[in-house]
Amino acid sequence: MSDCLFCKIVAGTIPAKKAFEDDECLGFFDIHPQAPTHVLVIPKRHVRTVNDLTIEDERLLGHLFLSAARFAKTQGLADSGYRCVVNCNAHGGQTVFHLHVHLLAGRPMTWPPG
Ligand code: 5GP
Ligand code: ZN
Repeated sequence: MSDCLFCKIVAGTIPAKKAFEDDECLGFFDIHPQAPTHVLVIPKRHVRTVNDLTIEDERLLGHLFLSAARFAKTQGLADSGYRCVVNCNAHGGQTVFHLHVHLLAGRPMTWPPG
């Protein structure tokens, strides 16, 4: 999508600090980190929200989470733990409408979230 911020990061027209990448997904560091490690894992293909996922996206969604977990393991963050968050629409707190998994790590998280 031409007017989507994260599509522009995928295209390289807006810079981002990459954490990892493959054919289908990109992990990059959040510009306003909420934890010592805060990476956004996105599909390279534009998907607007969780509501827009279809049965064809089942494997892609698994790939996003497996990629997040692999990164956490390679960074030595897996055993201490981390949080994966996907916000959806206004009440979920979504502000960028290109599906993304927040990977938050490096400090204890609290519950419930705000
Ligand atoms: P949401 O609120 O939609 O769940 O999360 C969007 C996230 O994108 C926020 O944590 C915000 O800090 C991050 N973000 C917004 N604009 C940019 C940007 O230009 N670059 C990077 N790296 N992160 C961004
Ligand atoms: Zn997009």
